[in-house]
Amino acid sequence: MCPADRKLTNEEETAYRHAVETVLIRNGGRRLYACVYTFGCQQNEADSEKIAGMAEAMGYVICEEPDIASLIVVNTCAVREHAEKKALSVIGQFKHCKRRNPELVIAVCGCMVSQSSRAAEIKNKYPYVDFTFGTSDLHMFPSLLMERLNGGRRAFIIPPENPPVSEIIPVRRTVSYKAWVSIMYGCNNFCSYCIVPYVRGRERSRNPDAVVQEVSGLVSSGCRDITLLGQNVNSYGRGCDFDCSFAQLLDRVSSIEGDYKIHFMTSHPKDATREMIDSMASSDHIARQFHLPAQSGSDRILGLMNRGYTRDGYLETISYIREKLPGCVITSDIMIGFPGETDKDFEQTLELLRTVRYDMVYSFIYSPRNGTPAAAMDNQISEEVKGERMKMLLDLQTGISGEINSGYLGRRMRVLCCGPSRTDPSVSECRTEGGKLVLVPSSETEEGRFYSVEITETGAYNMHGRVLQ
Ligand code: SAM
Ligand code: SF4
Repeated sequence: MCPADRKLTNEEETAYRHAVETVLIRNGGRRLYACVYTFGCQQNEADSEKIAGMAEAMGYVICEEPDIASLIVVNTCAVREHAEKKALSVIGQFKHCKRRNPELVIAVCGCMVSQSSRAAEIKNKYPYVDFTFGTSDLHMFPSLLMERLNGGRRAFIIPPENPPVSEIIPVRRTVSYKAWVSIMYGCNNFCSYCIVPYVRGRERSRNPDAVVQEVSGLVSSGCRDITLLGQNVNSYGRGCDFDCSFAQLLDRVSSIEGDYKIHFMTSHPKDATREMIDSMASSDHIARQFHLPAQSGSDRILGLMNRGYTRDGYLETISYIREKLPGCVITSDIMIGFPGETDKDFEQTLELLRTVRYDMVYSFIYSPRNGTPAAAMDNQISEEVKGERMKMLLDLQTGISGEINSGYLGRRMRVLCCGPSRTDPSVSECRTEGGKLVLVPSSETEEGRFYSVEITETGAYNMHGRVLQ
């Protein structure tokens, strides 16, 4: 078996550099624009920063106007059917752009087109799409673009069995104070409902020296908030030639000097070790925030989901987090309407929410994904029942979040200002280290700086504050 940290071969690296250089020369002197559209999770956001980084290296100016673009890349998600439908509808709109500008190159990448059936659908039903590539083939983007610009055929690339970890792709970040840093790719867990292992491939990790170097560079350039990304960060380093666990990686990145916080996501409850929680407790640089997706409170459903832990095991981890990290903000993902979920199973999920008292829960209505074991299970739950359960869950969690947040009234908190609110620019959206949203008058704040604020008003979804001198 190949190690889970295989680097690009010399040939792959040479092909990448040659293609970037060739497209850059071809585009030389002209002001050409590129648009990158992103659907899905933080991992996709991070991938899009690399796509934009490569486009920039090839001489494109990144913009948000498809009408003036010479290159459009749509980075898709496949986790739920809804996400795929949205991406297909956006791709459909670009037909007119291509008609107006036949020189336009349209590429589709990401999880949706990593499935051969979807890649074939794009090939056959969307003739104006020039090429597709998967999440593990990002380094092939310049070569695919070069080939197409040179008059080559349309291409539809399906991810290989053993994709490499690339360290040569530039990242284009739009803000300097906040950054995603991918530490690993893929997933080996095969939860029975989830498409991710099929579209993102097996787990592979970046070398810890490369991660530490990237985080150091970010901190020294003034970055304040860094999120380490992976589908299951706790299994970082597994199967690799180097010897570094996630806990050890946390120790290394948090010993960098500077004024910053480290977050990470996502932790899988079956692999969230005490060693890792101890590492968190030993450093002030690691944010007191833990996202630990439970998915269900019923052992029967957890078994059917192939999650690899029980409700009691999960609750033990939560107790250890509470003991070692007092005041830690704890959040979760919960899935509603997994096949065969009975009223009793669902009640156990509600009971889990009452027991843990999460600060916040991201709830997902189960969506059957072709090729996953759960999609073939009997007893699929009706949309009506899923909707009713969703409402009950939201009502319960809104009450809990509201009660927890009311305990913050009058408290002094340190927050990072992340810029004006889109819906009301008179307030800035600021985040506590636990990720809670605090709205503060824009006149008192500057994007990218930390502030001490007093909480003046609280609600279930956000709080208001004023800056303390
Ligand atoms: N790796 C992470 C974990 O194990 O929790 C989560 C990654 S997954 C892409 C993010 C969330 O999407 C999951 O926690 C799950 O609740 C949701 N999800 C995954 N497959 C889904 C499906 N078929 N239908 C609805 N939600 C789904
Ligand atoms: Fe999907 Fe499970 Fe992997 Fe998370 S751990 S990405 S839910 S298979």
